Amino acid sequence: MAEEHRVVQVSVDPGTRRNTVRYNTECGYFFYKKEQRGDVLRLECNRRKQGCPCKIYMRDGIFMQHGEHNHENEVEEQNRALAVRECEIIAGDPQFRRLVPKQIVEEARRRHPDVVIACNAAVEKRIQRAKRARQPPTPNSVDEMLASMENRPDYTRTINGEQFFHGSVYSDHEDENIRRTHRRRLQQETPKVKRAINQLYAYWTSYWLETIGPKRFSCYGRSNRTSNLAEAWHRWFNAKCIHAYLNPYDFDDELKDTEESKRRDYQAAARGLQVGRQTSAKQRSCDRRFAEDARQFAAGNISLRDFLERSRPVFQIRQHGDRDEGEQ
Ligand SMILES: [Zn+2]
Ligand SMILES: [Zn+2]
Repeated sequence: MAEEHRVVQVSVDPGTRRNTVRYNTECGYFFYKKEQRGDVLRLECNRRKQGCPCKIYMRDGIFMQHGEHNHENEVEEQNRALAVRECEIIAGDPQFRRLVPKQIVEEARRRHPDVVIACNAAVEKRIQRAKRARQPPTPNSVDEMLASMENRPDYTRTINGEQFFHGSVYSDHEDENIRRTHRRRLQQETPKVKRAINQLYAYWTSYWLETIGPKRFSCYGRSNRTSNLAEAWHRWFNAKCIHAYLNPYDFDDELKDTEESKRRDYQAAARGLQVGRQTSAKQRSCDRRFAEDARQFAAGNISLRDFLERSRPVFQIRQHGDRDEGEQ
C-alpha cells in the first residue's frame, strides 16, 4: 500500500515553552521539530507518544505530510494557544498594567469569545513573563534603578518626552469644613482619646501660639506650602498606585500618567474652563476678608492679635464662647 503524501499549509508560531517553535497545520494539528537532516526539516506530530505516525518533511518552504493522524484535530487547543498569546499582548501593553492576571484573562476572553481559556498557574506565569519583558529588570537598589533608567530615557520623561513639572500649584477652593469634620470624628473617640487631644490642644495653644508665635511656622504668603490641593493630589495618586505587582517602573508609569493628566487640567484652566468643584460664594467672601485683614496687618493698621482674631474663621479654630454650628 502506497503511503499517502500531500502538501499542507503550516504556520510557525511560538510554542508554550520558552524559545520553542510550534508548527500548526491549517487543519488544526500541531507538529514539533524532530531534526534537520541536510536541507530537509523533519517534524513529528505532538501526539507521537500516543502512537500517531504522522510526520511532515519540509524542503524549500514546502511542507509535505506523510501518513495520517490517529486522532481528532486540535483546533480547540490551537485557539487556546492564540488566546494565551493575546494575554501576553495585553500584559505587555502599558495601558493595561493595572490588570491582575485574572482580569487579563477576562480581557482575552472578551476578544476571543469562542475560545475556552482559564486563568491557571501556567497562564499566570506567561502573563508575568510578558509583563516583565516590557520593563527593565526589577532593581534591588536606588543606584540600580538610576543606572537602568539611564539606558531607558523614556522612564525619565513625560508621555510627551518632556521634563516633569517642577514648581508649586495653588487652589482657590479649599471649601471642606475641616473643623466640623474633625470635631465629628473626635466625638466618636473614647474619653481617653478626647482627654489626650485636650492636653495636646492646651500644649499647642500655650507653646506654639503664645511662646513660639505663628510667625515661625505660618506659611502664609510663601511660595511652597502644603494645601488641601496637594493632599488631595497625594490621596488620588496613592489610590492610583495600589494595584497588583507594583514595581518602580509601574510607579514611574503612574507618574507619567498623572503628569499628563495635570498638564491637560492646566491647559483646560488656561482656556478658562472650570476644573474640579466650584468655589462656594461663602468661601470666596471669606478669602476676600482674609486678604483685606492681611493687608491691614501688613500696613500696621491692626495688631497681630487682632489679625489672628479676625482670621480665625479661615482656619476654623474654635475658642470658648464660639457658638456651636448647630450640628447633631
Ligand atoms: Zn513518506
Ligand atoms: Zn497526529
